[in-house]
Amino acid sequence: MDVITCPKCNGSTLVKSGIIKDRQRYLCKSCIYYFTVNKLGKKIDDYYVTKALQLYLEGLSFREIERIIGVSHVSISNWVKEYKIKKPPHPNYHPSYKIFKHNELVEYLKTKDQLSGAGMIITELGDKFMLIKWERFKD
Ligand SMILES: [Zn+2]
Repeated sequence: MDVITCPKCNGSTLVKSGIIKDRQRYLCKSCIYYFTVNKLGKKIDDYYVTKALQLYLEGLSFREIERIIGVSHVSISNWVKEYKIKKPPHPNYHPSYKIFKHNELVEYLKTKDQLSGAGMIITELGDKFMLIKWERFKD
């Protein structure tokens, strides 16, 4: 794979910063510049494939996943077919979303009550974090 560099300063200290319309977005740490690149063959990082499928298995719809991680619902639907993912029913799952700064996330997780009887995924969202939480057995 080609080495990706910043189009502004040519720096190579880059961090992945989400997906915008199926294109990987990067943040250049040298000049704080966001840019997106077309991956060769428009292939999306496996990281997002796994994440999208995780969210799908947890009961989120394609549109919700699109909103959260920025990958189009068409791609997600294709992956579900490609990997033959079958979703079990989750009648008692109630996903909720919260967006935290890092310090807020740490504070939130300090309380054990937040973790008991719940399933969670924490996902990076730009410079913040999104916590998706399923409270089980709550009617
Ligand atoms: Zn740069």
